[in-house]
Amino acid sequence: QELFIAFLHDISKRVAAENELLETRDRALAGERAKAEFLTVMSHEIRTPLNGLLGNLTLLHDTPLSDDQTRYVRNMDISGRVLMRHVDSVLDIARFQSGALEFDIACTDLGLLLTELINSQIGQAEQQGTQLCWNWVGTRMEWGRTDRAALEQVLLNLLGNAIKFTPQGSVDVEIERLPETEDNKPVIELRVIDTGIGISPDDLDHVFDDFVTSDTSFGRATGGTGLGLGITRRIVEGLGGTIGVESTPGEGSTFWVRLPMEQGRAPGTTPTADAH
Ligand code: ADP
Repeated sequence: QELFIAFLHDISKRVAAENELLETRDRALAGERAKAEFLTVMSHEIRTPLNGLLGNLTLLHDTPLSDDQTRYVRNMDISGRVLMRHVDSVLDIARFQSGALEFDIACTDLGLLLTELINSQIGQAEQQGTQLCWNWVGTRMEWGRTDRAALEQVLLNLLGNAIKFTPQGSVDVEIERLPETEDNKPVIELRVIDTGIGISPDDLDHVFDDFVTSDTSFGRATGGTGLGLGITRRIVEGLGGTIGVESTPGEGSTFWVRLPMEQGRAPGTTPTADAH
């Protein structure tokens, strides 16, 4: 009988502990959801008037202004856009926290995606004397099945950083189809290689955490939120891939992304033996 009581006692303690664990998890989940909802509402509340402000600033472009006034308008425009980007980052984080991340996988022309991406950044790069280019390395896979918008956001974040932290020099984007692994799934590796300021070994372990920015004077001057790489990592992991970085201070950084990606085909073409 003593043994029986001891056994009961033991189970009741374990059940109580399990219940407590479940309650704590539910509370944490509810807390996360409430936080995400708050961030979403706040972001929308900020976006609406900000859009109005930026829209009216655009109208001023067609108005005769003095040189000084033109400069003020341009500065307001830049600040407004930076603020909008920050609000978008917060919205992205809120979306991830509430688990509302869905991918739309379709056949994507990878070369075209890279060309358009480079073209969108070339003005900014040239302005600061930074060379920009992309190329295939090794085996190609022209068409891949992936979420185009998500991949664009990943590359835009990496490319934007690479340009920002390479005041003079070069940024190269390489794309390669890696040799097939045991499970026969093709993997695409993308590398964003810059010759910029680099990242110190201490910072290297934390760059993919949220709200981490470099504490150097250069980092402070560029004024980031430290959310870009956290968002980038979540998207890459959401797509089933991995992300990493190698860097030497003063010489440059290489950010790489590996994504499992089935081969796609151009719309309107018949599948080849190779295409899935
Ligand atoms: P943000 O750029 O908005 O500060 P990110 O999450 O994109 O935030 O980057 C976090 C930090 O990682 C940056 O502040 C910078 O210190 C460092 N970093 C990111 N990319 C590079 C790069 N290509 N070269 C040097 N440092 C970088």
